[in-house]
Amino acid sequence: MDKINRRQFICCSAALLATPLSAQAFWPFSGKDAVASGATDIRGEIFKGDAPKTLWKWSHEGYHYGKLERKRVMCGICPNHCLLSPGDRSVCRSRVNLDGKLYSLAYGDPCSVNVDPVEKKPLYHFKPRAKVFSIAATGCNFRCLNCQNWEISQVRPEDVRHYDLFPPQVVAETQRTGSEAIAYTYSEAITFFEYMIDTARLARKQGIDNLLISNGYINRKPLLDLCEVLDGANINLKSFDDAIYRKLNGGRLEPVLNTFKTLHTQGVHFEMTNLLVPGYVDDEDMAKRMCQWILENLGPNYPLHFLRFFPKYKLNRLAPTPISTLARFRELAINEGIRYVYLGNLPMHEGNNTYCHNCKKLLIERQGYFIPVFNMIGNRCKFCKTVIPGVWRDEKKL
Ligand code: SF4
Repeated sequence: MDKINRRQFICCSAALLATPLSAQAFWPFSGKDAVASGATDIRGEIFKGDAPKTLWKWSHEGYHYGKLERKRVMCGICPNHCLLSPGDRSVCRSRVNLDGKLYSLAYGDPCSVNVDPVEKKPLYHFKPRAKVFSIAATGCNFRCLNCQNWEISQVRPEDVRHYDLFPPQVVAETQRTGSEAIAYTYSEAITFFEYMIDTARLARKQGIDNLLISNGYINRKPLLDLCEVLDGANINLKSFDDAIYRKLNGGRLEPVLNTFKTLHTQGVHFEMTNLLVPGYVDDEDMAKRMCQWILENLGPNYPLHFLRFFPKYKLNRLAPTPISTLARFRELAINEGIRYVYLGNLPMHEGNNTYCHNCKKLLIERQGYFIPVFNMIGNRCKFCKTVIPGVWRDEKKL
């Protein structure tokens, strides 16, 4: 297994927990299954220039794009609306215009594959202790200065070694590893939309859950298609200020808020993460406005995770978020009325635990990714019988 695939990528700026996973937690394939960087295409030619001259085995025509005059195309997957002439490559680096058609080059060629605990996503209200088959192809539609996974998110598919794993094989490997769900994660899953949705549709037929771990920067139509096969999501709400979104992430706030509204109306369980980047996002007034927007538009039940920032990528000189700041933001959000507020990248803190919003008793204790205490019966608090929001297993299966 090559250097990149051996790394444990983290989920969308989340989960920097130092807790090592056991050897069994790695996807148990050997290096020979990975395809070498600079791989040849199906006709035996090597990519040259920005766009390939011919398609490779891991190409797939886009599902959401428009054809324009002079063989130009416009991608409809995300609000970047890339307008590409023949030979051009997209902002997310994984799509090209080849002779007037839009192709994704990230189909069946994940660069990172692991079996993770669902808590790592982080998803705290979705079938605790579930094993999740996690895949990522390269690409991202953002340019976050603090990207945790820039080695795979900010490169082209042909720049890294990857696996040869088409949707039926992903489903088969999910079953073989005893995983209950597939997570589309690590880089930005929206940019490998075709690979993700084809896999998710097959998985749904086999009773496997689908989890989207994402920045939420997607247009309504592809998101609605995705909602038909999504069981859960963790969406990174990077800040609550459009100017900061533009400066820190290279995106915009409003489309992400629209994603939350769509997931809410479509009945998809989701959790929100907010990485407290010092000097950018650790503003209490902004957090208050964010909580008020959540309460007005989504209600109090969706879990909110405040994550601790650690220096990374282009923000490698910033100090980590002080623990006192994290505790203050958690208290603020709880006081505003959000029922389930967590702290991430901060193991062994009480902010990792779940407390019933009604009787306040401890429901789930988390020590890293381990759960030593579980006080729920089905979807209810064991003590006061209140229904806890989320997706829970049948009690008998635990
Ligand atoms: S998914 Fe990629 S190609 Fe499509 S609009 Fe977004 S950045 Fe551009």
